[in-house]
Amino acid sequence: MRIRSIGVVGAGTMGGGIAALAASVGIPVVLLDVAGNRDRNEPAKRGLDRALKSRPPSFLDARSARLITLGNIEDDLPLLAGCDWIIEAVVEQPGPKRALYAQLEPLLGADTIISSNTSGIPMQVLTEGRSPAFRKRFFGTHFFNPPRYLHLLEIIPGPETDPVIIETVEQFADVVLGKGTVRAKDVPGFIGNRLGVYGMLQAIRLMEQTGLSIDEVDALTGPLIGRPRSATFRTADLTGLDILLHVADGLSEATGEDYGLPDWVRALVADGRLGEKSGAGFYKRVGRDILTLNPTTMDYEPRAAVESPELGALARRPLAERLRGALDLPGAHGEFLRSLFFTTSHQTLTLTPQIAWDVPSVDHALEWGFAWEMGPFRQMDAVGLDVVRDGLRSAGLDEPTLLRTAGERFYDDADGLPSARALDGTLQPLRDRPGVVSLPTRKSEGRTLIAGDDASVIDLGDGVAMLELHSRLNTLGERTFSILRQALELVDQQGYVGLVIGSDDARAFSAGANLNQIASLAREGDWAAAERDVDTFQQATMSLRRAPFPVVAAAFGLALGGGAEVAMHSDHVQAAAELNIGLVEVGVGLIPAGGGTKELLVRFTQELEPYIEADPFEAVRRAFMPIALAQTSQSAHEARAIGFLRPHDRITMNRDRLIGDAKAAVLALAPGYVAPVDRRIRALGQEALGNLRMALWTFREAGQASDHDVIIGEKLAWVLAAGDGPPREVSEQDLLDFEREAFLSLLGTQKTQQRIDHMLQTGKPLRN
Ligand code: NAD
Repeated sequence: MRIRSIGVVGAGTMGGGIAALAASVGIPVVLLDVAGNRDRNEPAKRGLDRALKSRPPSFLDARSARLITLGNIEDDLPLLAGCDWIIEAVVEQPGPKRALYAQLEPLLGADTIISSNTSGIPMQVLTEGRSPAFRKRFFGTHFFNPPRYLHLLEIIPGPETDPVIIETVEQFADVVLGKGTVRAKDVPGFIGNRLGVYGMLQAIRLMEQTGLSIDEVDALTGPLIGRPRSATFRTADLTGLDILLHVADGLSEATGEDYGLPDWVRALVADGRLGEKSGAGFYKRVGRDILTLNPTTMDYEPRAAVESPELGALARRPLAERLRGALDLPGAHGEFLRSLFFTTSHQTLTLTPQIAWDVPSVDHALEWGFAWEMGPFRQMDAVGLDVVRDGLRSAGLDEPTLLRTAGERFYDDADGLPSARALDGTLQPLRDRPGVVSLPTRKSEGRTLIAGDDASVIDLGDGVAMLELHSRLNTLGERTFSILRQALELVDQQGYVGLVIGSDDARAFSAGANLNQIASLAREGDWAAAERDVDTFQQATMSLRRAPFPVVAAAFGLALGGGAEVAMHSDHVQAAAELNIGLVEVGVGLIPAGGGTKELLVRFTQELEPYIEADPFEAVRRAFMPIALAQTSQSAHEARAIGFLRPHDRITMNRDRLIGDAKAAVLALAPGYVAPVDRRIRALGQEALGNLRMALWTFREAGQASDHDVIIGEKLAWVLAAGDGPPREVSEQDLLDFEREAFLSLLGTQKTQQRIDHMLQTGKPLRN
């Protein structure tokens, strides 16, 4: 069974987002909604338009929207007959969903798979009245909003669903769509919402009980306890208060448990204050300010910063310590966090056997669906199960069986064998999925070859070594390069077949070169040392190209400046779909001088070589624009369009598979590998320089470039033209020399130093 096309019915928030994701990976989609009056496909068109305009973008590559065929359910249901998998995403009511299935049943091909995106209606309820043949191929696929960004996909088999179909969709969703799949039991609300929504409600209720403000609750329930910055109330504003209320009321009704929201939240919904989409909810944006609701007056007030010495001290500690410290906070903050932690832990422990098949599924559901850094069981382990037992006792709560049988931990990795407690209390080994390489597992198995402060070298098995970056945001400095040199030597001398470069950090492959060192050299005016540093960087990136074995960058998240240069100098980039790669050096008044400028120029020039009629300046222009504009891709697909990725670089949709795929790429390249020779291209000299100066003048006149931008642009142009002489052949090293010279001369200017200082102090670029 192979899924080659998808049908989506309901082009709303979810249907539009799912269609955009599927089309982005190259799957043709039929997207239907109800019929419009004048234009029959108007509702589906509106859905597609919304997906195209959404921010952050729903598409990885907006051009893939052409893979979506629009239609309506009155005229176009037969289009679905040709789809391998139909996903229903209409209103959350059993009636309309069932009516649709009844219409679809006679049209379905023998192997068509059909699933519902319901957020919580059990499959048994949805398939009432359908034939056994239908029930066999029907189940729940609960995507989270927005489908591109939230990793979780809950899969809910019905009692009669064919297990082969479930496995087919699980595999497809994992590898092709990049989702983290979790199987849930067929009970209302499944896992994510049942526990995640409960956690949100509980925070809102406890706020009232402990007399805290919305600002305080968001300060306490965000990164402090390993949750997203949007914490509780900002997340609710983003979700939509009406949706939250609808899901919560649905849960209360379906489960008989109390998911009721306080009256003042209901009043907000009744008043149309639905959050971000209506301009006001728990927060309200007024001009450039964000005001916070005071639930007593129901009016908005200036945000109050929430600070205390205890919170400040905790913020810098690792998550496990922050969680423990949060429970010891004094005053109302501590009271709130203790109540929240113990009541939600109690809920998790009590419900897990009813809703999930195992403990890791529950953790994954909250980590992937609600962006928690650690799921609830991992949190309980971090805090200590005896602390949980004491806390439950003090709160007057019973000790659920799952906790009673758990001993000291839910997860264990004694003897390098990671395991988790099953629902019956026994420890069961956690097996890596085929093709997935887990760095923590490799490390716990003692596979660390070199351990450093900013980077380490890990043996990935099968003769592949990995340089793991682990400084803050994986910034690159001398300590990283030193380990890199050791890694290259080790691979070469100890019989390894190749090297992967990457990390486990969810945010960044590398945010670029560490600016501190270069900034202090500039301040001291030690130009010789600055030049040495740039040279070291260039030698490091070139050493990746020149190594006599394949080097593969497993790039994901931020790959900026020096990070982009490392990726671009690898033989192959295995890129995660979520890739923000860019040569952003102009933001700090510099040009890319770790080989990035050279690399784009050489790459684009060589691409034009077969076309005798092509204008060679086109390659120079193509390299100039993304650097001058500090253009950063919003996805790996966009990175390919800009040229940061080459046609042979590959994209991995599922971030969990990135290191495994990079390792596979090393193994594929290794047999008979020969290092690429240094390249030579024809530089255009004076002619290109003149054209680029003209472009800079236009930018300046249009007010798009400051005087200093023009100076930086001139230096960039100088490198890309290889000076102002006649056209001539240059080597990669010649171009690197131009890069270095341009970099150092810009570093000597006051305005560049101001840009660097500003970036170091604020994390944002300065336009001076
Ligand atoms: P929505 O209201 O944004 O969109 C529903 C769409 O379905 C509308 O465009 C509507 O015109 C269309 N529609 C209604 N009846 C139809 C029918 N019979 N045939 C064809 N189209 C029909 O809703 P949504 O938020 O996208 O939710 C869709 C489903 O996904 C629901 O089951 C919901 O519970 C679930 N869900 C929603 C979210 C979320 O955050 N919004 C998250 C996960 C799951």
